[in-house]
Amino acid sequence: MPRCEGYYTLETSRCPNEGDHEMKASDGDRYALCEYHADAVWTTTVARWHGETGLRASAPVVLQAAAREPAFIW
Ligand SMILES: [Zn+2]
Repeated sequence: MPRCEGYYTLETSRCPNEGDHEMKASDGDRYALCEYHADAVWTTTVARWHGETGLRASAPVVLQAAAREPAFIW
C-alpha cells in the first residue's frame, strides 16, 4: 500500500499514514490519501513525493476543486 501523499503545510512534512484512498486533486491528478486526509477535503494539501520518502517532488496543490465533482457530492 502506498504512503499517504497528504502534505502538512505547517510542519512542511509528509503524512506518515498509509494511503488507502485515491482522490483527484485540483491539478487533475490522482493522489493516495489516508482516511484522515480523504475526509478533510477542504483543508487537505497534497504533493508528489520521491517514492515512499518524505522528500517532496512537486509543488503542493489543494484537493478543494475535486470536491465539486459528482463523485464527491453527498
Ligand atoms: Zn494522510
